[in-house]
Amino acid sequence: MATLAASRDQTTGVDVPMPFKASVLTLYPDMFPGHLGLALAGRALERGDWEIEAVQIRDFAEDKHRSVDDTPSGGGAGMVLRPDVLARAIDSIADDGRPRLLMSPRGRPLTQKRVRELAEGDGVVIICGRFEGVDQRVIDARQLEEVSIGDYILSGGEPAALTLLDAVVRILPGVMGNQLSGVHESFEGGLLEHPQYTRPQVFEGREIPEVLTSGNHAAIEKWRQEQAVALTRERRPDLLPPQPVKK
Ligand code: SAH
Repeated sequence: MATLAASRDQTTGVDVPMPFKASVLTLYPDMFPGHLGLALAGRALERGDWEIEAVQIRDFAEDKHRSVDDTPSGGGAGMVLRPDVLARAIDSIADDGRPRLLMSPRGRPLTQKRVRELAEGDGVVIICGRFEGVDQRVIDARQLEEVSIGDYILSGGEPAALTLLDAVVRILPGVMGNQLSGVHESFEGGLLEHPQYTRPQVFEGREIPEVLTSGNHAAIEKWRQEQAVALTRERRPDLLPPQPVKK
């Protein structure tokens, strides 16, 4: 199997890592790179730190109406993406070992852990569903990994794909200026992040907590840790290890 991992630089003879590559299969290629063409991700894209190609699924329709969907077998509302058209679109992308993800509300919920794993790889192939979804047989036949971005229904997989790519791209090497931010972030340490403050010192009568302006780094670290634990206990107890039962 071909790999995207590294290629030899012709002038120096040194192996340079290949940029992270996203191939997105969609009925709306104009939605890409979307907001990822702006700000830090956009500059990284211009520098070639990552790449994106949007593939029009409709280009793989073969009938004269170029139809990509049909009515659900067994009846019901809406339309379903055809497996043959989608399979041809998927097969047009070389199988170079990149994970093939299908954005889907039935998928495993996306986590920062999975985002990190994806960012450490060569890239992703992402399929964006539309209508009522995708014929199950192409999911099985092409072994698509279904990924959800949350318990709600979008009109299409495109904003979900952009969300996943946003999370991945921001942690690619060199994309975020300050490499340290990212380490303390919510979820990275298994906790929600502590509250943040900046100037002015007083805002509408509210002061910055004194410890943060004390210059005592150990005390600041302790305060932040306590805040993170308290916030997580209050809002997301599911993230904490189970508490021993007190007798
Ligand atoms: N009938 C489907 C929903 C289809 S929504 C169901 O009930 O499960 C149309 C498309 O939007 C989906 O195929 C998927 O690609 C995308 N989508 C919708 N909600 C999503 C979510 N929470 N996460 C990821 N993709 C989603």
